[in-house]
Amino acid sequence: MNKPKRYTITSALPYTNGPIHIGHLAGVYVPADIYARYLRLTGNDVAFIGGSDEHGVPITIKAKNEGVSPQDVVDKYHAIIKQSFKEFGISFDNYSRTSAKIHHETASEFFKTLYDKGDFIEEVTAQLYDEKANQFLADRFVTGTCPKCGNEEAYGDQCEKCGTSLNATDLINPKSALTGNVPTLKETKHWFLPLDRYESFLKEWILEGHKKDWKPNVYGQVKSWIDDGLRPRAVTRDLDWGIPVPVEGGEGKVLYVWFDAPIGYISSTKEWAKEKGIDWEPYWKSNDTKLVHFIGKDNIVFHCIIFPAMLKAEGSYILPENVPANEFLNLEGNKLSTSKNWAVWLPDYLKEFPGQQDVLRYVLTANAPETKDNDFTWKDFQARNNNELVAIFGNFINRVVVLTKKYYDGIIPAPNTFSEVDQETLAAVKAYPGVLSSSIERYRFREAQQELMNLARLGNKYLADEEPWKVIKVDEARTQTIMYVALQIASALATLSEPFLPFTSAKLKSILNITSSAAEISWDGISSKEILLPSGHKIGEAELLFSKIEDETIQYQLDKLEASKKVNEAANKAVEPQKETITFDDFTKLDIRVGTVLEAEKMPKAKKLLVLKVDTGLDVRTIVSGIAESFSPEEVVGKRVTVLVNLAPRELRGVESQGMILMTENADGKLVFVNPDDANVANGLQIS
Ligand SMILES: [Zn+2]
Repeated sequence: MNKPKRYTITSALPYTNGPIHIGHLAGVYVPADIYARYLRLTGNDVAFIGGSDEHGVPITIKAKNEGVSPQDVVDKYHAIIKQSFKEFGISFDNYSRTSAKIHHETASEFFKTLYDKGDFIEEVTAQLYDEKANQFLADRFVTGTCPKCGNEEAYGDQCEKCGTSLNATDLINPKSALTGNVPTLKETKHWFLPLDRYESFLKEWILEGHKKDWKPNVYGQVKSWIDDGLRPRAVTRDLDWGIPVPVEGGEGKVLYVWFDAPIGYISSTKEWAKEKGIDWEPYWKSNDTKLVHFIGKDNIVFHCIIFPAMLKAEGSYILPENVPANEFLNLEGNKLSTSKNWAVWLPDYLKEFPGQQDVLRYVLTANAPETKDNDFTWKDFQARNNNELVAIFGNFINRVVVLTKKYYDGIIPAPNTFSEVDQETLAAVKAYPGVLSSSIERYRFREAQQELMNLARLGNKYLADEEPWKVIKVDEARTQTIMYVALQIASALATLSEPFLPFTSAKLKSILNITSSAAEISWDGISSKEILLPSGHKIGEAELLFSKIEDETIQYQLDKLEASKKVNEAANKAVEPQKETITFDDFTKLDIRVGTVLEAEKMPKAKKLLVLKVDTGLDVRTIVSGIAESFSPEEVVGKRVTVLVNLAPRELRGVESQGMILMTENADGKLVFVNPDDANVANGLQIS
């Protein structure tokens, strides 16, 4: 493609059943934002499009579990997600949602067009049905054993253990997620997109046409899907949450969420164009538009096979020029997981690191999973902040600003004769926009950010070598030149950092007083202009760009993750199977009473044992209890307890124990008293 006239940049629609975490940010939204900001800075016409994906089965299940409507669920998380993006500087031109009217209309029309053209196959098949819930069971409404790997908790659309994509009817021993019932089979009509018809088109377009410019991980996945043979894929579901199927016989059915979600990019663009009073169609239908989808690797099949097949079938749309999908980001060596709470949630980060959005953006780009899965660790986060942002970038800017204030009252001095080093340094600065552009345009954002830091390193080294704080004592003219050169580097950093560190860039522009458009330096201007900051220009107020992150702050984050890990371990512990059945008479043999611990002391030379004096209401008796690792004697005095009083006495280390205190265990393995929750229950009362 020649130089595009405009860019349409989309980023995967986040699913609105929870807030978003660093994995989403690293894989999709930060790279998309860097790309969009860069293109705007270099004078391009850009539509950076996003929105929330609000349909599908998991949302209806969550709503059911919480006793609210699906709309309540999506309203809540749409607001939270949208706010997180805003706070992290993700510069969407429009952020919409798939429950919006404009999206329902657009998706509905799209389906209708394909239907009218005869692009779907209509088929009656037997699907799983829950008689008790009066509902068909697709996708996540049904669980069962995976036919491939034997995982007993596979879902009706996918086994998360082996990654196989499934039909609900493939599951062995299926069970309804709604009622636990064993489903029956019932006939229902659905529409299928015959992907097999698009095989030769996909082969030519991707396998031949994009062999060189698409990322190997994306190309490889697409190739293996096509080599496996493409099959018709259902685009409708029996469900009441979603976009109603707009044709005869579609009553009670909606569009499959994976059919409607990518159309969300189109409806969000329409919403934006309408607001701006411009035509949306060139952004999707004109051959001089470059369309790029930013996604995670789990979405490759939808963006490289299914959506393009839909666009091709419709006929009037352009296809993506590139789909630079990322691999996954792990956290401290483990897979990020919403259900296991193994994540760094953006709303939490903002609370715990206020004003430090750029630090997270920086670290996520430095570790971006561009070619393979990568790991986020809190130690690395701290090291990159302290050793790179603070010690290099921040230190350089701080020195430049403080010395300019001190020597020249904040007014940029006029340079005298440039030394060879000065000339080399100024020439090196001019080369940076080109170097960064080349990396960004090939979607190598971590490489681009490394180059940005190299520019900061150049400035830092220049000052350290030239030592203006020493030269000022002997050569005022030379000092002026040094500071002039250093200030040119600082102003180049202010512009070139914007795609990566937008908050820092804004701060730096304000420090250098280049916020007005007249003083602002464009991306290309850094290469073409002789002077970036002219002598006589007065800079603004000094401000620290970054601050050191202490060990305690990092330890707190590690402790939080450790706590999540313990909860997960406890949840994963196999529940003991139920014991053999007993009769009511068996139960009544147990004499269980409410009591109070009056005294407690450690059993000498026994790590686990406390010797308790317990008021059982019948008497005050001695009970030896194995709770010393969970409680100190002081902690248990006065505790209300549940006591098995007719347990045969037994001797423990020479002390006769006359009963047993009932205990259980919490997620951390700490013992917990089983006790009455009402203080008015008197000692001696029976438990029955
Ligand atoms: Zn499996």
